[in-house]
Amino acid sequence: MILKNLNLNPDLKILVTGGAGFIGSNLCEVLVNNGNQIRCFDNLATGKLENIQHLQSAHNFEFIEGDIRNLEHCVQACEGMDYVLHQAALGSVPRSIKDPVTSNAVNVGGFLNMLVAARDAGVKRFIYAASSSTYGDSKSLPKVEEIIGKPLSPYAITKYVNELYADIFSKTYGIETIGLRYFNVFGRRQDPNGAYAAVIPKFVMQLMQHQSPVINGDGSFSRDFTYVDNVIEMNIRAILAEDKNALNTVYNVAFGERTNLNELVVLLKKHLSKFDSGIAKVDPEYGPEREGDVPHSLASIEKAKKLLGYDPTYDMESGLKQAVNWYWNNL
Ligand code: NAD
Repeated sequence: MILKNLNLNPDLKILVTGGAGFIGSNLCEVLVNNGNQIRCFDNLATGKLENIQHLQSAHNFEFIEGDIRNLEHCVQACEGMDYVLHQAALGSVPRSIKDPVTSNAVNVGGFLNMLVAARDAGVKRFIYAASSSTYGDSKSLPKVEEIIGKPLSPYAITKYVNELYADIFSKTYGIETIGLRYFNVFGRRQDPNGAYAAVIPKFVMQLMQHQSPVINGDGSFSRDFTYVDNVIEMNIRAILAEDKNALNTVYNVAFGERTNLNELVVLLKKHLSKFDSGIAKVDPEYGPEREGDVPHSLASIEKAKKLLGYDPTYDMESGLKQAVNWYWNNL
């Protein structure tokens, strides 16, 4: 990813929690290339060493294996850091429905540990991965940051509680926070395997194997699918923000367009069949709707544009092309 005109001071020391995961490893890579001292903190629950293997020999990269549920580990990870990009969490709505206790322990208990450790280490700013799931049952579209509904899953509760804690920590202890409500992120290194895989990598892998992707519901559910480089841009803009009005608040991170699942499969087939024409003949199958799924999701990105100067480079299809190329060459 090119950092466009974003001038991030390479002297800043940045902790990336969940740095061996999909989004975290992409953040580590871009920041290491910018010259920043990067500490990656991860317990490898869903992340993988192979995601950061190419960074391990860099003089400005350090990996600490540890668990955010352990306050001591968080204290060690935050020591000497200027900024925290907190990505570590257990993602997935279905996972949280199956095991709400573990999702809560990691996503809420671990988040609180990280806030405490960051505060005590004198970290300047705590930037964290929030989630579009916080919009819950609110029907209004596009989603604007100030209007949320009731959460529809344990995962959504944990992500909302993160925002509440961040708000209280900024008001009570003066630590600067910014929450980034990611909307269905996709791109290189997102894991296509396992019961909780996200829809894009899962469908890519199935289509590459000439297997029918299974759409939950009739395919009309839509998402504001967001390419990972737009997410990186927002994290960097959150580090750079100087205006006080831009701090201690949350932002949607998306492109601002929605695509339904039927359209997604058409696009995936279009781009994958350039590599293997047989993929054009693979049709999707339809299964039952999933519990806890929000029917439609579309972000307003006006707040991010206005307060952080967000200017996403990749729309859904240009991001999808990049992602498909990556999967074709790396799976
Ligand atoms: P991911 O699973 O690839 O990354 C999460 C990372 O956190 C993994 O490397 C995992 O090993 C690590 N982790 C989990 N539990 C941990 C623990 N107890 N201690 C230390 N590390 C731990 O997922 P991702 O898609 O990269 O998600 C990153 C963040 O973005 C998460 O907070 C997620 O909730 C949030 N988010 C993601 C999306 C998306 O579409 N991918 C959407 C909204 C929010």
